[in-house]
Amino acid sequence: MTQYPHLLAPLDLGHVTLENRVLMGSMHTGLEETKDWNRVAEFYAARARGGVGLMVTGGMAPNREGGVFPGAAGLFTTEDIANHRVVTDKVHEAGGRIAMQVLHAGRYAYSPECVGPSPIKSPISPFPPKELDEAGIEKQIADIVTAAARARDAEYDGVEIMGSEGYFINQFLVRHTNKREDRWGGAYENRMRLPLEIVRRVRDAVGPDFILIYRLSMIDLVPDGSTFDEVVKLAQAVEQAGASIINTGIGWHEARIPTIATSVPRAAFTWVTRKLMGKVGIPVITSNRINTPEVAEEVLASGAADMVSMARPFLADADFVTKAAMGRADTIAPCIACNQACLDHTFGGKISTCLVNPRACYETELVIEPAETPKTVAVAGAGPAGLSAALTAAQRGHQVTLFDRADVIGGQLNMARVIPGKEEFHGLVAWYQIMVAELGVTLKLGRTVTADDLDGFDEVIVATGVLPRDPHIPGQEGANVLSYVDVLHGKAPVGPRVAIVGAGGIGFDVAEFLVHDGQSPTENLEEWKSEWGVGDPEETRGGLAPEGPRPEPPARAVTLLQRKAERPGKRLGKTTGWIHRAALRMKQVEMVAGVNYERIDAEGLHISFGEAHESPRLIEADTIVLCAGQLSERSLADALEAKGRRVHVIGGADVAAELDAKRAIDQGTRQAAML
Ligand code: FAD
Ligand code: NAP
Ligand code: SF4
Repeated sequence: MTQYPHLLAPLDLGHVTLENRVLMGSMHTGLEETKDWNRVAEFYAARARGGVGLMVTGGMAPNREGGVFPGAAGLFTTEDIANHRVVTDKVHEAGGRIAMQVLHAGRYAYSPECVGPSPIKSPISPFPPKELDEAGIEKQIADIVTAAARARDAEYDGVEIMGSEGYFINQFLVRHTNKREDRWGGAYENRMRLPLEIVRRVRDAVGPDFILIYRLSMIDLVPDGSTFDEVVKLAQAVEQAGASIINTGIGWHEARIPTIATSVPRAAFTWVTRKLMGKVGIPVITSNRINTPEVAEEVLASGAADMVSMARPFLADADFVTKAAMGRADTIAPCIACNQACLDHTFGGKISTCLVNPRACYETELVIEPAETPKTVAVAGAGPAGLSAALTAAQRGHQVTLFDRADVIGGQLNMARVIPGKEEFHGLVAWYQIMVAELGVTLKLGRTVTADDLDGFDEVIVATGVLPRDPHIPGQEGANVLSYVDVLHGKAPVGPRVAIVGAGGIGFDVAEFLVHDGQSPTENLEEWKSEWGVGDPEETRGGLAPEGPRPEPPARAVTLLQRKAERPGKRLGKTTGWIHRAALRMKQVEMVAGVNYERIDAEGLHISFGEAHESPRLIEADTIVLCAGQLSERSLADALEAKGRRVHVIGGADVAAELDAKRAIDQGTRQAAML
């Protein structure tokens, strides 16, 4: 008897039965743009082998003007069809099913050629769209229908029509972006004409035995968005027009409310999808921040949806479903919703991968093969770099011993996981713990390793991490000065007024930690909704609370400082930096840039500005926390090298600057793949 009876139940769509209720949601990975079709095929085939019921590809442009960016992949020629067939063949060989998403970006297309219902520029794009005339609208519909028909020719099992997230179709649906007065604008019946025409004509073109998913925005999270009555009306009409499944979209890309970041509570929006249940006769899929089989099962068992969409969890672990079905969910590498290697890469023009699993999208390049000669391998340091090296080496058949001077594994992840909104790191450390045992790594905790301890090993990997940088501020030896390590390990009390030296990733996290005083809104959905201003779409258009965000008052008065004159937080993650900045602003954290640190005394932190050290100011503070960056902890590596040992130095011990867990894990995995 499975632990996940709802999740693993088949879903009968009439002409086809899906093996389970798990959809791998659409992700733009950038793989299709590489034109390396074997690589694309292997990415999807690996997930098909992993047992997912149905996959949806990244968005394929129906035409040049609808591409998310110039050169975005699509199905434009017969050669494209043949290329996509490489993918569908491999997926079908692996026993999987795959639908192609047709994505017209409308005014979100990063191009001066972009089109839309009205010439209103989006706040996240530099280009105002050209207003389409009647013939222009007909052309867009025809192109979308042609793309769907080509998907059928390419032997996809279906298509998903992207109608949410603020893209082209969504732009017609709401007055926010549709100011037209012809038959495509004005009354809701007119505004929903576009999706209905598209679904009806796509169904006519592809025939009855083809899956047609319509992704419908159930809560727009933008001003003047849809009401829930309109959502229901559209869903029912889309069903009538020929859709076989309705998938949930949450929030437009321009929304100022986070929808998938790690600080969003798990399954935070399934209550929205639940409102549609019983209102349509076709299956309804829910999505957003569902990342374990337990959460997915709970969502389905509670009746919130017929099927669950997870996307990023399939980057973290291709075998998610198989492992759940085998009762080994504890071995599923968890998606921590950090966006660091997936969405941040996409927006940075790089191929997506995964912080937790550097093999994602690199299946054909980063191959973990059994070692020709099994060796004894010592890994010093059980942070993410050392852990990933140890697991990969053990997976290859090496005999691995992993040392850490601490009593627990995880290194700095143990500090990350106490930050409100970063609770997912708990799951990552727990997973490493399971996998260390699973792969037979010998773990030696509470052991500060010296060079002599490592004499008998064939290979030595040094992953000893970092030391906090000393900013040398006069007066910093006072009792009112703490390092971030002391604060996050709870070694000393922190006063009600705090100055933080350094506004990097850790400075921001420490500020978040101190304004919350142990309470995390990520663990309390109602508090989180109130903090960000999420309302009920049945009561308020677009689901924006009329009273706006209502954060709890901060637990402490915090000032965050940096020497650089640039905007604090500018270098944080592309897709999450704005959330960190907004969250601290809501807690009235003062951010001061371009400072010189003059001295610290009992009154607080004395600063000045500019090269001439002008405008002296006292930041009155009971506690000053130093978050001034990090330096490599190389003492063990140096001692080994002095003995003439060949060592592999990875993670923070190698390069501390701009180090994050993504680089640490990637380097650890690649190093061990070569041993
Ligand atoms: P570490 O994690 O520092 O691990 C080194 C290990 O070596 C430690 O466990 C230490 O005890 C051990 N060690 C050292 N010397 C010896 C010795 N002689 N013998 C035995 N053991 C030894 N990164 C992200 O990507 N995303 C985030 O959101 C994020 N948030 C963070 C939040 C906070 C508050 C902090 C502090 C860090 C955060 N980071 C984040 C950074 C990330 O944790 C680090 O980049 C990563 O942990 C570095 O990995 P590492 O394995 O090189 O070193
Ligand atoms: P960091 O991002 O390099 O920031 C260090 C901060 O200290 C900067 O604000 C820097 O700004 C300041 N600083 C540097 N030298 C200083 C000096 N001598 N005196 C005073 N201030 C100084 O490093 P971090 O905050 O320690 O974070 C470490 C790593 O962990 C980062 O690289 C980051 O990627 C990772 N991390 C990531 C996340 C995430 O969410 N992705 C979160 C936490 C940590 P000025 O030089 O302008 O003063
Ligand atoms: Fe999840 Fe982070 Fe991996 Fe993206 S990079 S799939 S968010 S763990």
